Amino acid sequence: MNFRIRGEKDRIFSKGYKTEVVYAIISKGIPLFRTEGVGDISTVSVIVDKESYELPVILPEKIQAKLRRVMLENLRREYSNFDQGMKDKIRETAKSLGYKRTEGEWNCYIAPPQERTSSTDIGMCGYCPSCTILGNITDDSMMSDLNTAYGIKSRVVHDIAFSLVDYKKAVMELTHNKVADGVSYTGQSLYSDLHVSPGVVFIGKSTAYDLTKNEFEVVLDALTKVTRLGGGETKYGSVETRILGVKSSDKETISSYDIMRDIIGKHKGEMVDLEEYINEVKGLLKNNGFEEYTYKVNYSEAWEDSLDYAGKIRDFINVVEGKTGGKGKRKSKGGEE
Ligand SMILES: [Zn+2]
Repeated sequence: MNFRIRGEKDRIFSKGYKTEVVYAIISKGIPLFRTEGVGDISTVSVIVDKESYELPVILPEKIQAKLRRVMLENLRREYSNFDQGMKDKIRETAKSLGYKRTEGEWNCYIAPPQERTSSTDIGMCGYCPSCTILGNITDDSMMSDLNTAYGIKSRVVHDIAFSLVDYKKAVMELTHNKVADGVSYTGQSLYSDLHVSPGVVFIGKSTAYDLTKNEFEVVLDALTKVTRLGGGETKYGSVETRILGVKSSDKETISSYDIMRDIIGKHKGEMVDLEEYINEVKGLLKNNGFEEYTYKVNYSEAWEDSLDYAGKIRDFINVVEGKTGGKGKRKSKGGEE
């Protein structure tokens, strides 16, 4: 496998090390994968062997948002098991780099600001594995002594996840009834919504760029713990996420679109038993050089990697802001010496 190494001087610059991860998201409840509101489900039209299909999809931004939430859950749980020495090390290192959200116990959370004028999140720390792997905007609310905002790019990118089953077979309409308390009546409380049926398999692919081994495993650990997805996920969105194959290379060798085309070409978008679909995709991946990947994440090592990465970001920012020449050369916000 192609992994970057902690301590590498040029770690924040890509060497084009790519690791592809193909996974299945299997509907286990009646999820709502939609972009708009009630009565809508995200779909795309595709043509395979001269036949057209309408396929439900899960959009990349939904996958990224969920991945970040689950990764933060994992990081918080693991952090609570760290000894005081490790917790102090995280705080002191982040503090020394100029990060502001370092007081007390570490926490990093997604909280968009109420005012539209400010674009940056008010809860994200900037230096944890989630912030350094999935990206963030580092500005003067997050790090002291900055003249501009820096977009730290996500090192994990996602394909659209395509359903292997056509819309007509994969989606059903259900009527919901909000039952009143005491006196029951119907009318405005009745509404119907479109749900994905249980057993529908979606094929997705994520690609990790220039991650260390520990960082990569943090991503896999989050991906496989995605068990709820979509609108109204607490009630409907039960899913299972299964990794089907991993491959390291200097390029992206297959897309979820390629895999979908291969399977749809054979099964014409029919509702086929999920294990059958999964075995076929696994076979296809094996023929394309994908392998199984077994791992056990070491969260404290992953933290060391992210603090190292945050340090390299700070070094780069110092160069951009002309702060490498010592304290005397530091410019204030107004630009004067
Ligand atoms: Zn963070």
